[in-house]
Amino acid sequence: MTTDITTDNKAAVHRVPNFSAGPATLPTEVLQRAQDELLDWQGRGVSVMEVSHRSKEYLAITEKAEAKLRSLMQIPDNYKVLFLQGGGSLQFSAIPLNLLNGKRADYLTTGTWSAKAIKEAQRYAKLGLGEVNLVATGKDHNFTDVPARSSWNTTKDAAYFHYCANETIHGLQIFEPPQVDVPLIVDMSSCILSQPIDVSKFGMIYAGAQKNIGPAGLVIIIIREDLLGQASDWCPLLLNYEHQVEKESMSNTPATYSWYLAGLVFDWLEEQGGVEAIGKINQQKAALLYDAIDNSEFYHNAIAPEYRSIMNVPFTLADSTLDKVFLEESEQAGLLSLKGHREVGGMRASIYNAVPLQWVQLLVDFMKAFEKKYG
Ligand code: PMP
Repeated sequence: MTTDITTDNKAAVHRVPNFSAGPATLPTEVLQRAQDELLDWQGRGVSVMEVSHRSKEYLAITEKAEAKLRSLMQIPDNYKVLFLQGGGSLQFSAIPLNLLNGKRADYLTTGTWSAKAIKEAQRYAKLGLGEVNLVATGKDHNFTDVPARSSWNTTKDAAYFHYCANETIHGLQIFEPPQVDVPLIVDMSSCILSQPIDVSKFGMIYAGAQKNIGPAGLVIIIIREDLLGQASDWCPLLLNYEHQVEKESMSNTPATYSWYLAGLVFDWLEEQGGVEAIGKINQQKAALLYDAIDNSEFYHNAIAPEYRSIMNVPFTLADSTLDKVFLEESEQAGLLSLKGHREVGGMRASIYNAVPLQWVQLLVDFMKAFEKKYG
């Protein structure tokens, strides 16, 4: 199955429905624009990736990318935006190194990614940087639900409260930010820009780029100014938020090409009508898929309905011996990357911003046909 996508007077390009969890589908228009500009950017006879990150032409790209992101997410003026390297995972270290500061920090565990974040913070706690407190964990329920608020063991005056808004592997999303009185730090790697959020509710938002922003390796950090300037002496300079703010994310050579591509994705998102408009499409895509799952005895999604992710939809088959056949036949049908993460098994469809509704419809049609054949 391929879909023809035609954009602005261009010949149709074949794009195969790709449900990869990340690196993931990027908008066709963005890849086409990058292709057009690859060898000869702005008629300069050079590629973007060949120019100095300090040149005024390149700085125009970074300024525009930040301005677009600020406008798309309505980021208040008292927040700084960083475009750094090391993906989402390096922030698991950077956060305690910058913010633990001899205090105690609260961590909520709702799946693999938030578990990794606390594990990394615990390493620094062991070294004497502060204390790390597990507020609650959904492990006993196989991360299908978020522990009831009444069971949370929160710390008064914690340095911060960390959680993951969308657990990419388990397909569990926390839509409403937890109400706590301390700075809220959130991993939005797999849900940033997927629907409107109120940035002012957070102390810091971070997101690896490879789902809704651009190529892997880049990470975006949105941090409230009052949280800067508390880093431990051990904090590597490149991970020090205050230092990177001073250097405008250019303490060393930044990931210039990824930053440029992120800017193109922001342009694209604006052209789609922004986060509110894409959020409505994301809701439609998720509803289409969850309805297909719920209206069948053949497919199953285990996540508590209020926490079902609109970005990553894992599902299992009633007869798991058919998993392999499902994956083989879906791939033959041209539907890519539907294998669930090895930790949870089964299938997973990641339906980020750049995945069109039409692809989700193709997947649902395939699922129905597969059920008819084997169900
Ligand atoms: N957090 C979440 C929610 C993720 O999904 C991922 C990657 N899939 C990460 C963090 C880690 O990102 P990276 O691989 O860029 O370090």
